[in-house]
Amino acid sequence: MKKPFVTKDKLEEIIREIPTPFHLYDEKGIRENAEKVMKAFSWNPGFKEYFAVKANPNPYLIKILGEYGCGCDCSSLTELMLSEAMGFGGDDIMFSSNVTPAEEYKKAAELGAVINLDDITHVDFLEKTLGYIPKKISCRYNPGGLFKITTDIMDNPGDAKYGMTTEQLFEAFRMLKAKGAEEFGIHAFLASNTVTNEYYPALAKVLFEVAVKLQKETGCHITFINLSGGVGIPYRPDQEPNDIQAIGDGVRRVYEKVLVPAGMGDVSLCTEMGRFMMGPYGCLVAKAIHEKHIYKEYIGLDACAANLMRPAMYGAYHHITVMGKEEAPCDHKYDVTGSLCENNDKFAIDRMLPKIDMGDILVIHDTGAHGFSMGYNYNGRLWSAEVLLKEDGSFQKIRRAEEPKDYFATLDFTPEYKKMFGE
Ligand SMILES: *Cc1c(COP(=O)(O)O)cnc(C)c1O
Repeated sequence: MKKPFVTKDKLEEIIREIPTPFHLYDEKGIRENAEKVMKAFSWNPGFKEYFAVKANPNPYLIKILGEYGCGCDCSSLTELMLSEAMGFGGDDIMFSSNVTPAEEYKKAAELGAVINLDDITHVDFLEKTLGYIPKKISCRYNPGGLFKITTDIMDNPGDAKYGMTTEQLFEAFRMLKAKGAEEFGIHAFLASNTVTNEYYPALAKVLFEVAVKLQKETGCHITFINLSGGVGIPYRPDQEPNDIQAIGDGVRRVYEKVLVPAGMGDVSLCTEMGRFMMGPYGCLVAKAIHEKHIYKEYIGLDACAANLMRPAMYGAYHHITVMGKEEAPCDHKYDVTGSLCENNDKFAIDRMLPKIDMGDILVIHDTGAHGFSMGYNYNGRLWSAEVLLKEDGSFQKIRRAEEPKDYFATLDFTPEYKKMFGE
């Protein structure tokens, strides 16, 4: 059984002040999980989690993670600017971008961020852009082929646009060293939303083995290895959640087997988890505002795919709880939809749920990562508010809902349009 982290009474209290739809976040859950992550990797002295800002760029939430020592993983100018505004800088920022414009490298360098190069051509591009190569630098690795754990195919890196081939990685290290780099790191992201404790250890084995070879053959001093993101969460009620302690222990075993004997027992590990840090600790709260009985049964919400794109984009499952009807039999089959003029605007298809009445509050689970942040303005739909449910039970609006004036703001650049949309 998947249970919401919030009660119906509390939701009604919040809704009296902040109308639906909104994303709600669970401070207690975020904190408890962050603590577990830190503990699971505490055996590695230099360990650092760089929260993937793209997963949830709300500064109130990122600051909570900052209290546990987390930094920021950025991949765009505005993510860098946001991290800077929150007070992050230097080694607290990992810049893992691809197809990177020159100005973004400049900003990353200005902040002293660790730059993770996606491609060998970026060695020259970066040098040309900055006029130098930073002393500390990282390269993204793509081993190609299929990424398997025993016989299970996890993902297809050979088909992914990211990272350098093995030969390029060695060549990039030699080039960077010749240009003055002194501290090296490697990074790889080989599978997304993995719900198995084996992913990080298997990835670690790939990265650690290549790191040993790299250091031996190029003489570059590898000081950090970045396991990136990809640790998943159980979106479906029948899935077994990842055990981060088991994951940390698994990585440790590979570290002690591969890196320590090679004299590389001083390598710091880092991660760039987004989904695992935040996913389960957010939900989309919406109200049923229409029902429709045609060839199928439809429930229409006041939220739509512009508030949560994953079901429409990936066919992703998001569990739904009808508040106050947790014990009622799931004897109605519904498509739960939003209002977009797009037939894929469905939060659930053929989902068995309790009978839904107009005005019922629905909680759509696991929207804490890649939820709000993937929003868009199609059909002129506006971005929702974000609300933080605090540990003491109080709540705080941490982002206001977009208003029509925000939607029109990019048009009002001439006096004529200012008049139409502005004042
Ligand atoms: C998206 C992304 C992440 C975070 O991925 P999760 O699946 O949310 O853990 C980390 N690093 C990079 C470079 C990414 O693109």
